[in-house]
Amino acid sequence: MRHFAIVGSGPAGFYTAEALSKAYGDQARIDILDRYPVPYGLIRFGVAPDHQSLKAVSKRYDKVADEPGVDFIGNVTVGRDISVDELLDLYDAVILAIGAPHDRKLGILGEDLPGVVGSAEFVGWYNGHPEFADLDPPLGGSHAAVIGNGNVALDCARILSKTQHEFEGSDIVGHALQALEASTIKTVTILGRRGPHQIAMTPKELGELGHLEQASPVVDGADFPPIEADDALEPGHRKSITILREFAGTPPDSSKPKRMVFDFFAKPLRIEGDGKAERIIVERTELDEGGSARGTGEIYEVPASLVITAIGYSTPPIEGVPYDKRGGKFRNEGGIVGDRLYAVGWARRGPTGTIGTNRPDGYEVAEQVAAAMPAGGGDDRVGVEGLKRLLTERGVMPTDYDDWRKIEETEVGRARPGSPREKFVRVEDWLAALGR
Ligand code: NAP
Repeated sequence: MRHFAIVGSGPAGFYTAEALSKAYGDQARIDILDRYPVPYGLIRFGVAPDHQSLKAVSKRYDKVADEPGVDFIGNVTVGRDISVDELLDLYDAVILAIGAPHDRKLGILGEDLPGVVGSAEFVGWYNGHPEFADLDPPLGGSHAAVIGNGNVALDCARILSKTQHEFEGSDIVGHALQALEASTIKTVTILGRRGPHQIAMTPKELGELGHLEQASPVVDGADFPPIEADDALEPGHRKSITILREFAGTPPDSSKPKRMVFDFFAKPLRIEGDGKAERIIVERTELDEGGSARGTGEIYEVPASLVITAIGYSTPPIEGVPYDKRGGKFRNEGGIVGDRLYAVGWARRGPTGTIGTNRPDGYEVAEQVAAAMPAGGGDDRVGVEGLKRLLTERGVMPTDYDDWRKIEETEVGRARPGSPREKFVRVEDWLAALGR
C-alpha cells in the first residue's frame, strides 16, 4: 500500500488526488491536507463570487473526496504543525499544492499606506477568507484604482462597480456585500503599465464590463496601434482587443453613474497622501523595442483613496523546501522538487493559467509519481495513522470531509446572497459549528 500526502486542497491538489486515485485504485491512500478546516482553496477564496459557474467545479472535487482511498485532513498547517520532513517520513511521496496566496509587491514608495491593499487581501475579503475578515477597505471616497492588467484586476474593478442586485445568485460574503452597497466610489481607474495589446485579460471577463447596471467602461481609442496590427494576435487575445476597441468606440452611458477607466501606458511611481492613500503618481510610458514599458518623463496624478495592486502572486516558502525567490514558487524540475517531494499548480509553475490548467499539471505530476513508485509496492510508511498520532500529541485537531459537510449546512458555512451578516468568517467559527 502506498501513502500519499497532498498539501493544499485547491484545484491543483484535487486534480492530483484524482489522477493518483485513478492510477493506484485501492493500492494507495491519498490524504489532502489543508491549513483551513474547509476545502477548495482558490475556488473558495480566489474565484469571484459572481462567477458561480467556475466555482461549480468543486462538485467534481467532492466526487474525488468520496473515493474510498481519498481523505481530506483540514485544520493542519504544514510548516507549523508538522514539517515537510516529518511528512516524508510518514508518506511515500509528498505533493505541495499550496498555490500562491501572497501578493507580489510593487516596490514603490507609499505602498504601505493605509488604503493600499493587495488583490489577495481584497479578493479574500469579499470571499470570506478568515485572514482578511477585518480588512475594511476604504470605500468612502469617490475614486479607486486597480494596478495591473490581468483578470484579477478585472475581478476587483467589477466587484467595486456592481450593484447589490447584480450580486444575486453569487456567494459573496455578507460583510463585503454590505460594505460595497454603502460604497461611494464612482470611478475605478485600471492602470496598465503597457498598452491594450499587452493586456492579460480574457474576452469573457472583459465583455462583462459592457453589461453592468450602473457602470460604463471608458477606453481611449488613441492608445491602440492601427487595427491591422490585431491580425497577428492569437484569436482569443484578438477577441479581447476587439472588445476593448468596442468600448473605445462607445461613449459612456450617461444614465450610469459609475466609470471604469482603462489608463494604459501608465506606470505607478509612488502612492501619496496625508497618512493614507490619496493619489498615485504615474509616469506615462511607451513600448521599447523589446515590448517592455519605458518611461517618457511625463508625470501625472490619478486620485485614489483605495488602491488595489493586482500584479500577481507568490507561493510562501516552507522551511526545508528549495525555493525560487525570483519566480515566487518552489524550485522544481517538471514538478520534482526533491527525493519523493513534488510541487503542482501555482506552487510549481507560478501564478498563471486558469483552474483548468491545473488538471494536466496534476495528471503529469501524478504520472511522475506513479513511474517512480509503482502500484503494488510500498515502503511500509504509516501514512495517516502516524500523522494523526503526531497531531494529537501536538494538540492539533484535524477536520475531515464529513466535518466540512456539517459546516456547510450551518450559518457559517457560506454567506447567502442578499442577506448581509455580521463578520463571521473565522477559523474559530468554523470549528464552533462542529462543537469544538
Ligand atoms: P496576470 O495575468 O499575470 O496579470 C498581472 C498584471 O500585472 C499584468 O498586466 C502585468 O503587466 C501587471 N504587472 C506586473 N507587475 C507590475 C508592476 N510592477 N507594475 C504594474 N503592473 C504590473 O495575473 P493575475 O491577474 O493575478 O491573474 C493570475 C492568473 O489567474 C492568470 O492566469 C489569470 O488569467 C487567472 N485568472 C483567471 C480568471 C478567470 O478566468 N475568470 C480570473 C482571475 C484570474 P505586464 O504584462 O506588463 O507584466
